[in-house]
Amino acid sequence: MKIGLFFGSFNPIHIGHLIIAETAQSQTALDRVWMVVSPQNPFKQKKNLLSEYNRLRMVELGIGDSVHLQASSIEFHLPKPSFTIDTLTHLKEKYPDYEFALIMGSDNLEHFHKWKNYEAILEYYHIYVYPRTKEIDKLPFLDHPNVELFEAPFLDISATYIRETIREGYSVRYLVPDAVLDYLEASRAYLD
Ligand code: ATP
Repeated sequence: MKIGLFFGSFNPIHIGHLIIAETAQSQTALDRVWMVVSPQNPFKQKKNLLSEYNRLRMVELGIGDSVHLQASSIEFHLPKPSFTIDTLTHLKEKYPDYEFALIMGSDNLEHFHKWKNYEAILEYYHIYVYPRTKEIDKLPFLDHPNVELFEAPFLDISATYIRETIREGYSVRYLVPDAVLDYLEASRAYLD
């Protein structure tokens, strides 16, 4: 089984994230996509960052009953901050029969050489890249045999925009799935 890992804070999850995850699964060789929720860094309390458990719950609600997508809390109990290579190594040990790959936006390629052990990531894992920048052919690593580009719609939506819109008292309906909207409203998230 091939599992694509899509990492994020998901503060909150929005349709941009879900469309990428679904597109990645349907247009590549991936059987499943796990949306890996980044835990809170205990040393960097970020204002407006909901607890990891609230964010995980929203990812579960956003995914709904999909068989292809799944929320993952794997990093909650790993040393913080969690580096991708360490999470990958941990997952490989925990699920030896699964083949893990990464899903990332093309903007990440620009700084990918600064990631911990990026050479090892490239050598041992497949990376599925979707376009997030216009001049995509100028980006590094795209010609690496383990890097594969897939087409996905460009959605200019961010969690920052959603948090700000909520704080201003405006609607975010349709920017997040209905179940996430209900959760946000019931918990009065991002309002204070
Ligand atoms: P924030 O605005 O709080 O920084 P975000 O919306 O960018 O949040 P993250 O949780 O940081 O969300 O995103 C997880 C991953 O999804 C990141 O790699 C990010 O680049 C990517 N991503 C976020 N929004 C979109 C989008 N609209 N389309 C495609 N990828 C996205």
